[in-house]
Amino acid sequence: MSTSAEFIWFNGSLIPWKEATVHVMSHALHYGSSVFEGVRVYNTPKGPAVFRLTEHTKRLFDSAKIYRMNVPYSEADINQACKQAVSKNGLQSAYIRPMAFIGDVGLGLTPPLDAQAEVIVAAFEWGAYLGEESMEQGVDVAVTSWNRLAPNTMPTGAKAGGNYLSSQLISREAKRHGYNEGIALDNNGCISEGAGENLFIVKDGVLFTPPVTAAILPGITRDTIMTLAKEAGFKVVEQAMPRESMYLADEIFMTGTAAEIVPVRSVDQIQVGEGKRGPITEQMQKAFFGLFNGTTEDKWGWLHYVND
Ligand code: PMP
Repeated sequence: MSTSAEFIWFNGSLIPWKEATVHVMSHALHYGSSVFEGVRVYNTPKGPAVFRLTEHTKRLFDSAKIYRMNVPYSEADINQACKQAVSKNGLQSAYIRPMAFIGDVGLGLTPPLDAQAEVIVAAFEWGAYLGEESMEQGVDVAVTSWNRLAPNTMPTGAKAGGNYLSSQLISREAKRHGYNEGIALDNNGCISEGAGENLFIVKDGVLFTPPVTAAILPGITRDTIMTLAKEAGFKVVEQAMPRESMYLADEIFMTGTAAEIVPVRSVDQIQVGEGKRGPITEQMQKAFFGLFNGTTEDKWGWLHYVND
């Protein structure tokens, strides 16, 4: 699996992938001053479709707003750029990575007030993030020793480059100890999220997920699952939860654009439910992937066809 393609959208035009370079003195490289998105394109019966494109682009601009970053393009420009990056590379399914970053504007921590962000949109092929097998078998996770960011330190509601040092600590520690992914607790010791995924706990037929105050990124897949679950008649509750609620869950699954819907079969080496994908997780996977094979009706206008 290679994260490359022939062309990349860079500051307004599609250029050859290899020519999309920046200077080593770029502000973002030194201080993490970038905001980004991860968006998936699915090959549907009506051609390639970008999933929830407008919501992803909105979140990109929200992240930029939080960090007072001037993005010299409109949301419509970026939506267009995403579709162009997919079609120009002839992709049927893809992962799209839009990113706005502060370039070579000097090394002062505060960029000049009139500094304009540079913007890229990359699109390339990418399979299941935690492996195809995990979609059915489930993954083994552990609570890591690293907490998520406290709310008054760095905003987890912004999908900013610098935040991903926290995510790297979480996932690297988990992988070093032989787990597929790490789960972080928040500053109060309650369940937050995975390194790059939100978390759902199923107990007695109800779906529980940590609230935005638990230092999570409000995931777009999380929102999709909450919507699809309610549509299927489930009760969905956002609430703070202690670590042991994972041990006592009937089912657990994680959600994310890259990870999609992944069952969790153990937490801290304690088996979750039957130790394999549970029925509600499977139902949610079917409803989710059904959006792309046509078996779930897209009532919400979530699919943005690349060739429209
Ligand atoms: N939390 C974190 C920290 C993430 O990086 C991601 C991936 N973007 C998610 C949750 C899931 O968000 P989404 O469903 O929007 O991809």
